[in-house]
Amino acid sequence: MQTMNSTSQQNQAPPLSIRNLWVEYSVERGLVKAVRGVNLDLRPEESLALIGESGCGKTTLALALIRLLVKAATITQGTITYRRDGQELDILSLNSRELRRFRWRECAMVFQSALNAFNPVLRIRDQIYDTARAHGVTSREETHQRALGLLEHVQLDPKRVINAYPHELSGGMRQRVLLAMSLLLDPQVLILDEPTTALDILTQRTIIDLLRRLKAELGFSMMFISHDLATAAELADRVATMYAGNIVELGSVADIFYHPTHPYTLGLIRAVPTVTGDFEELVSIPGSPPDLIDPPSGCKFHPRCTYATERCRVEEPKLEPVLGIGHTVACFHHDLVEQDTESLAKNHSHTTRKNTL
Ligand code: SF4
Repeated sequence: MQTMNSTSQQNQAPPLSIRNLWVEYSVERGLVKAVRGVNLDLRPEESLALIGESGCGKTTLALALIRLLVKAATITQGTITYRRDGQELDILSLNSRELRRFRWRECAMVFQSALNAFNPVLRIRDQIYDTARAHGVTSREETHQRALGLLEHVQLDPKRVINAYPHELSGGMRQRVLLAMSLLLDPQVLILDEPTTALDILTQRTIIDLLRRLKAELGFSMMFISHDLATAAELADRVATMYAGNIVELGSVADIFYHPTHPYTLGLIRAVPTVTGDFEELVSIPGSPPDLIDPPSGCKFHPRCTYATERCRVEEPKLEPVLGIGHTVACFHHDLVEQDTESLAKNHSHTTRKNTL
């Protein structure tokens, strides 16, 4: 299947639409507002990166999409709509049987640790059969043939790997097996939590190339969480910056990395070292992420923001269009940030690993 261009991606109904989504965790100290009113569409065949510091709500948002949140978490408001072949599903109203069908068949998720995802005493083939059976595929032969094809697709030796135990495979191989398993039931949406974390740099490169190729060939939409901006820059079509449980900037990968207009996105980019860049220019973001039990008033970034004014302390900005088509930002003073990002646009080495490998 051919990859769509961004115009046709925008014209078709998005496979996933999130509207005004709120998620809270109940903890001893109170209610943690982990996701606060998120609005987001995942377009057909696009790759969307969620970036931001730990605790900003990225993983909670991803888990909410497939209703895999822990018991202490509650979706208190909002809607999640899934679309395929002209049909719409209201994810928040699915019963457990419907949810089981939705997961893997429609929307699969690959979690962070490839090692922990496997049962150490079962061969890969048995883990694949168990997964298929749990989602209603009863033919072992059909599963076996599909698994062999997918393992080959992720550039593994299918006959060797399918009979192996997890400990006989390297971290990169296990990550590729997980990818193959996630595609077993031909999902339309793939969600990945830190797909390259804990892998060495050459294996990261392999996984990034593989994901790109799989997406182009199989035509799924992909949402991935990454704290590694280089991975996001290489793999994403669009990038959403999350802060304090909400999206504060959303745009094409070029918009976000060459023309960031939110001080937090700019801070994340400036904090990334490059092999060819000048280390003296690295600037870390002052302060620490907010307490989401008792978040700051107004713009949640204001205690850390060098652009903050009185308005920022009392009023929370909403996502509004800025600069390029589809580029939106939640900041009252994005024009000042734009002026400061001009120098970044000239320095492509900040956003791509291409020159450094
Ligand atoms: Fe900073 Fe104000 Fe923009 Fe918030 S709204 S990011 S505090 S300038």
